[in-house]
Amino acid sequence: WRSQNFPWTKKLEANNKKVFGNHSFRPNQREVINATMSGCDVFVLMPTGGGKSLTYQLPALVCPGITLVISPLVSLIQDQIMHLLQANIPAAYLSANMEWTEQQEILRELNSDYCKYKLLYVTPEKVAKSDALLRQLDSLYVRELLARIVIDEAHCVSQWGHDFRPDYQGLGILKQKFPNTPVLALTATATASVKEDVVQALGLVNCIIFRQSFNRSNLWYSVIPKTKKCLEDIDKFIRENHFDECGIIYCLSRMDCEKVAEKLQEYGHKAAFYHGSMDPAQRAFVQKQWSKDEINIICATVAFGMGINKPDVRFVIHHSLPKSIEGYHQECGRAGRDGQRSSCVLYYSYSDYIRVKHMLSQGSIEQSPLTGYGRANMTNSGRILETNTENLLRMVSFCENDVDCRRLLQLAHFGEKFDSATCKKTCDNCLKIKSFIEKDVTETAKQLVELVKLTGQHFSSSHILEVYRGSLNQFVKKHRHETVRLHGAGKHLAKGEASRVLHYLVVEDFLVEDVKKNDIYGSVSSILKVNEAKVRNLFGGQRIILRFPSSVKAPKQGKPEV
Ligand code: ADP
Ligand code: ZN
Repeated sequence: WRSQNFPWTKKLEANNKKVFGNHSFRPNQREVINATMSGCDVFVLMPTGGGKSLTYQLPALVCPGITLVISPLVSLIQDQIMHLLQANIPAAYLSANMEWTEQQEILRELNSDYCKYKLLYVTPEKVAKSDALLRQLDSLYVRELLARIVIDEAHCVSQWGHDFRPDYQGLGILKQKFPNTPVLALTATATASVKEDVVQALGLVNCIIFRQSFNRSNLWYSVIPKTKKCLEDIDKFIRENHFDECGIIYCLSRMDCEKVAEKLQEYGHKAAFYHGSMDPAQRAFVQKQWSKDEINIICATVAFGMGINKPDVRFVIHHSLPKSIEGYHQECGRAGRDGQRSSCVLYYSYSDYIRVKHMLSQGSIEQSPLTGYGRANMTNSGRILETNTENLLRMVSFCENDVDCRRLLQLAHFGEKFDSATCKKTCDNCLKIKSFIEKDVTETAKQLVELVKLTGQHFSSSHILEVYRGSLNQFVKKHRHETVRLHGAGKHLAKGEASRVLHYLVVEDFLVEDVKKNDIYGSVSSILKVNEAKVRNLFGGQRIILRFPSSVKAPKQGKPEV
């Protein structure tokens, strides 16, 4: 597909320069365009900022007929249309919250043999609900004017993805109704299972897949233990590494956003908050101030970031645990789109896992606009909750890992092999670790499980660890846990080792965190329970081997030493 000898090559190159102002193609752009223009169904995995829009906008311009683009958010669509009109490419969109007369006018224009539009954008809901639209598409199809169907953010089709949108699942109807129109599915995030789902649900035929490495070599990753001084740490980090530069701090709750922003303002940063309960005008105002560099730090929920095209974001900080590795990767991906070195710092504490888990089960967590759009509270139902919890546990496991390359861990999640030597010490683990040792921790694991049972499966993980280390604090004494057989059995272990093992047992489902809201105080508490079925293997001879760094330099924040 790389060939430059397709009948349309000259025209493509000329328009790429003249209309879009690009001097060349980016990786895979030419290949994708050639494949889709040859009439094949194509699936494209390209990282954020890779240049997906061009792969359908350029063909739309040089092919006869109209390109239908399904895009998840009206705000994204409006942004795209503004850019297209600026480049003199006639484009329109249809959405449910548009005036009926306006919709009628667009539909009428589509009906004309001399329709001026090259691209028509719609939301997936529109495809699902509007017979008028389907009739119009039918008429275009019969007149051979439906040039191409583009599914943007195609991972929304899949329940396994982090942005599942039920209306995307109905898009399979397009291929059934218009079998001769090539489909182009685009996404910046997809694991192997998501990809399978998308291809199946959309009914893509002999689909050609393009994917490129999702490694972002200019981003420097680190995970730092979150303490009570977290906000001071963040202030220090920004001051030392990115003062007066632009960044995003992702927070879990709306209240966190406001608290973090206020504190950073006190520390003298130009910070503001952004979340879903602000009204649209407020949000637009903050976004604008940020684009114009009047504010340089945004403390936001994941509601912020979709379609944000600021190229010089120098840091992305996670103040709390992200919901999934995909989400983490995408949020980090908003840093350094200009290719310059940028930092991604995650402040991790195990207790945040319990908080996020609780919020997921309540459906009270703020979603990215993709998921949240038109469908609140889907997160706490059966299978979706299960998937969400699994995704969250993978994220815990990522954070608990202080040995393997952060790039390797992320890319493995996307089914991509990565040689950690290529990281060149641009992640915390590669930077600090000289070597690691493998240690058989089966005995510790068994003892911890036993301790959970001996104390009646009524206590939190931190309490279990206290007892295991031999603490005599008041709470231990109150429950007379100093008299329990395994009290102090883990005294001799290196600092942090018991908690590593305990958290591993949770991640691997030997132990389960049972999260509850405390009715009296409204706080969240969690107790550990034993998963008997899994634990049977452990006592039946299964070994647990964990890797620990054998020589650790003090973890360093900030820019990589390259
Ligand atoms: P994606 O949708 O993959 O995140 P976009 O399509 O929004 O990426 O493109 C990201 C940026 O890259 C845009 O500003 C776009 O103008 C620019 N861009 C795309 N293709 C090229 C190219 N071939 N040469 C230079 N800039 C490009
Ligand atoms: Zn690394």
